[in-house]
Amino acid sequence: MTPFEQTNFYLAKAFAVANLGADVERMLLTPRRELQVKLVVQLDSGAFKTFTGFRVQHDNARGPFKGGIRFHHEVNLDEVRSLASLMTWKTAVVDIPFGGAKGAVLCKPAELSANEKQRLTRALVRALHEVIGPDKDIPAPDVGTSASEMGWFVDEFELLHGFAPGVVTGKPLALGGSLGRDAATGRGTLFAIREILRLAGAGEIAGKTFAVQGFGNVGAWAARLIAAEGGRIVAVSNSRTGVYNQNGIDAESLWLTYQKGEKSFAAGAGEPITNAELLAVDCDVLVPAALGGVLTAENAGRVRAKYIAEAANHPVTPEADEILRKRGVLLIPDILCNAGGVTVSYFEWVQNAQRATWTELKVNAELELKMAEACRSVWSLSQEAKVDLRTSAFLLAIQRVVAATRLRGFH
Ligand code: NAD
Repeated sequence: MTPFEQTNFYLAKAFAVANLGADVERMLLTPRRELQVKLVVQLDSGAFKTFTGFRVQHDNARGPFKGGIRFHHEVNLDEVRSLASLMTWKTAVVDIPFGGAKGAVLCKPAELSANEKQRLTRALVRALHEVIGPDKDIPAPDVGTSASEMGWFVDEFELLHGFAPGVVTGKPLALGGSLGRDAATGRGTLFAIREILRLAGAGEIAGKTFAVQGFGNVGAWAARLIAAEGGRIVAVSNSRTGVYNQNGIDAESLWLTYQKGEKSFAAGAGEPITNAELLAVDCDVLVPAALGGVLTAENAGRVRAKYIAEAANHPVTPEADEILRKRGVLLIPDILCNAGGVTVSYFEWVQNAQRATWTELKVNAELELKMAEACRSVWSLSQEAKVDLRTSAFLLAIQRVVAATRLRGFH
């Protein structure tokens, strides 16, 4: 299945319960706009290179389109379409007034200088500026982009349209970024795990064991915050290496190594393990926080965790989802589990609109309210409709998008 087919596979399961009719279903599956742009950029060598960019605007019934921009050499339109659709459902699950979008530029960011990335970002803004804006479509960082690109993005957009800090989120603090954005997806994952464990009658995070795949922005924050709440991190990995220690790994010392960018990740923290072994570690909660498609039909049978918190986007294939569900593993779906990032992006957009700055305490407290409320709504709908949490999350999101669409009137 392609990424877009995977997303639509899950939507189809929710459609089977929602009973909306073929016309509405088709409308929900179809992106409103798909742009492909060609960006001619001068490299530091003086030569010109043409890059291909995409922006898919999936749905805006509940508010402006919202979603990140990825710089990666392997991305394609199908994947961008899938990620744009996921954003529609993610923003609806946490009930923030946005729709869904995603963008990408085919490039190898590691091979571009900062000046080249700046020229590429500015070229992208010039190509997209008529269809984006604080009330139209609000990009953000994604794989291969960061606050730096968002700073250049807002500057180029403002050269064309005047002051408009809300045109992108994930900006540097000095340009209107929000406190707490860095930690937001990992923190949201913590809140989702905490709430779902309680709702499942499984108690608290303290005393439970966790395996975290990926120690980047999301995985590192999730691991640190889980450990701070008394959870025991027994396994951690990144793209190069992994470590296992049944007595617990000190997430703070790993964090120091990560911040220094050291390659000797986790040296001395426990026994080395591979990423494949990490997924099968004996623990209460497995947190895939790296890539999509890591749990498949081939390895799902070896998972020993009782809970899986999908901090990454689509880490579980539909085939693995089926196997894990039959084995009684409770999955916290990505559109709920990792929605903390876009939620704090929304807080950033609100602060920009209000010309206000929230304290980190306020950001985190509001995030907890949003995540806990979303978890409770997904949980009660799953009980009511007798479906798993993923189907329930899609069902809740669909209901909200359809309600907004109907009230606008079909035309
Ligand atoms: P990141 O680049 O900061 O970190 C990714 C981590 O995964 C790194 O530790 C990297 O070494 C590791 N990794 C890469 N390839 C791997 C492999 N083959 N096996 C094991 N580990 C591997 O990225 P991030 O921002 O932490 O994002 C992680 C995931 O979360 C992605 O799926 C992303 O789409 C999703 N996500 C991120 C955010 C956010 O706010 N950053 C929001 C929602 C979803």
